Amino acid sequence: MGEPGKEFGGTPGNIGLMIFSHVLPFYFCLSLKYSSGGIYWPSSFADFFIDFKNCCTPTITAFLVYIGFFLIQLFFAAFLPGLKVKGLPVPTENNFQYSYNCNALYSWYLSLILAAVVHITGIFPLTYLANNFGSILCCSVIFSDILSVIIHFYALKTNQTCRMSNEFIYDFFMGVWLNPSIWIANRRVDLKMFAEVRLSWLLLFFLIMSAAVKQYELYGYISLPMIFLLTAQFLYVNAIMKGEECIVTTWDIFYEKWGWMLIYWNLAGVPFVYAFHAYYILENSKENQQNSSVPFILLLFIILFGAYYIWDSAQSQKNRFRAKQRGIYVARNTFPQLPYGTLDNPKYLKTQAGDSLLIDGWWKYARKIHYTADICMAFCWAVSCYQTPGILPYFYPVFFTSMILHRYQRDMERCQQKYGNDWKIYCKKVPYAFIPGLI
Ligand code: NDP
Repeated sequence: MGEPGKEFGGTPGNIGLMIFSHVLPFYFCLSLKYSSGGIYWPSSFADFFIDFKNCCTPTITAFLVYIGFFLIQLFFAAFLPGLKVKGLPVPTENNFQYSYNCNALYSWYLSLILAAVVHITGIFPLTYLANNFGSILCCSVIFSDILSVIIHFYALKTNQTCRMSNEFIYDFFMGVWLNPSIWIANRRVDLKMFAEVRLSWLLLFFLIMSAAVKQYELYGYISLPMIFLLTAQFLYVNAIMKGEECIVTTWDIFYEKWGWMLIYWNLAGVPFVYAFHAYYILENSKENQQNSSVPFILLLFIILFGAYYIWDSAQSQKNRFRAKQRGIYVARNTFPQLPYGTLDNPKYLKTQAGDSLLIDGWWKYARKIHYTADICMAFCWAVSCYQTPGILPYFYPVFFTSMILHRYQRDMERCQQKYGNDWKIYCKKVPYAFIPGLI
């Protein structure tokens, strides 16, 4: 049982989650290396120790690659041109509105070009990531843990804390600093936005590209499931980059503090855990190629595109509706712009709290239809590994579903608190949470 009023099970839950989050990516890494992505079960502790040492020892080169990636992205974040967007007023900072330079899309395109150039010229073969997956993972884990400690104590020392519980572990886990930023040549880079939008998703995509390139170099082909995963991840990462300005007003940015949970999962958890499927396919390339059914992969593509369409256009409808209401809407022609992404004169519910709630477009069918679409995409990633039977590929969708359901619960509580009776009226108007007519 967690402590009352504390999220994620309070201190005991936080400790459990920190241990679990450290074990998980390393276990996946060992499973890929020694069991082709199947259950890894060493015969003795000594064997485990040797396996771990051979697979996950951090090296100076791996550390430099990780830090290099971090610094290049920081440089892009500070210096590339972007759309200037104001954040929501921060009540704990006298309603100050931070300004964000949303240039993740340029950063994303430039990073892709840079990756292609360094790979083709041989300066940095992309396969380095796949060949040193465990070492880079270990570097990212160490780096994110150290960064969490630094951020925690720096915020305490400089009195930049908010919503403190005064329980060390809980505060460390949830974070103490709401808007951590650094200044580079008079340009503010918001570290939470930077980590959430760029580090995790870009590194994830490069890890997957690396697996695809390695498959090509080893076998002379990129298998259909690998192409499927590349497409799925490209769409997902691209959507995050093209919609960066909408993230500024999301819950993660205006409410969550930058503590261990976000730092660790953005810098280490998301890229290395979410990359599992591509490496599973790589490790089982022969079965993967032989057992692939073209009609089945085509069906997966159709489901993926359908889910992506709902996910993207639903979020776009809400974010544009809110931006228009606040008078900060800017039409952008970022790729891809989907039909039904902007609603003209939608129906909405006015609330006493000030913000209005959309009850039109996708939002009239279910309150979290975009979560359902996201879960559907997560299952598609896992099912793309079907050629080689195993249970670990299904860990991600199950984990994602539990995480997003827990997020739903937290969001419901927050909205109930914010909107009071208006939230009850909204829930009556839109009674379903995930699947219209069902739940
Ligand atoms: P939402 O996009 O649902 O945002 C929730 C907030 O939107 C609420 O707190 C409320 O904030 C506002 N809101 C709720 N209903 C309405 C409405 N009808 N009209 C207008 N505003 C409304 O959730 P998230 O930020 O959790 O998720 C965004 C996306 O990110 C999702 O697709 C999710 O699946 C994905 N995600 C992916 C993760 C991953 O690891 N892959 C992790 C987490 C999220 P307000 O106070 O402004 O009213």
